[in-house]
Amino acid sequence: MSNDSLSKIETEVKGCPLCRLSQTRKNAVAGEGQLSSKIMFIGEAPGKNEDQQGKPFVGVAGKVLDQLLKNAGIDRSQVFITNVVKCRPPYNRVPHDDEVDACRPYLNRQISLIDPEIICILGGTAYSSLVGGKAITSNRGKFIKKDGRKYFLTIHPAATIYNANFLPTLKNDILKLSEEIKKGKINNNRIDSTFEKVNNR
Ligand code: URA
Ligand code: SF4
Repeated sequence: MSNDSLSKIETEVKGCPLCRLSQTRKNAVAGEGQLSSKIMFIGEAPGKNEDQQGKPFVGVAGKVLDQLLKNAGIDRSQVFITNVVKCRPPYNRVPHDDEVDACRPYLNRQISLIDPEIICILGGTAYSSLVGGKAITSNRGKFIKKDGRKYFLTIHPAATIYNANFLPTLKNDILKLSEEIKKGKINNNRIDSTFEKVNNR
């Protein structure tokens, strides 16, 4: 797909009829950020605010993410932010497998176009969908490799709203990610010790 582009994907997503979430969404949310982004952040699905505004992570969870990125010296405009599914599930339920599968080609195309140095997985839905992982809370904080892609695992920003104890956890994880990137460790294939084998149990 050599003529593919982020704006082409966005146009397709905005009019996408491929799963039942198209019937209840207000605005599909393709994602936001530059083609040149070195980091992609991938969450679960748009929530109410995202559905209203057509942009990812603009509600309360988004404010948490913005603040923790800033704290780690990462400008939101330098990263690409998207979700596993591009339309809001009713009542913010977890997306169904068939919805994740229907939406997957959009995410795959975004990943191949951006070709980020690292993908930061935010929460269990992205963890299972992207790398087949199961227990995000016991695997968070890890760098993993799968099929030639590098991932950093952490919890979903919304988890910090339900349980304030998760806030320092996410804060430290994002700092860790930022520091590894600054040290050049992500892009240096000789330093493989950064990357662990993931334990899916
Ligand atoms: N939660 C998500 O997973 N994604 C968003 O865009 C907003 C909240
Ligand atoms: Fe299409 Fe994805 Fe929206 Fe489903 S969630 S309608 S597959 S864009």
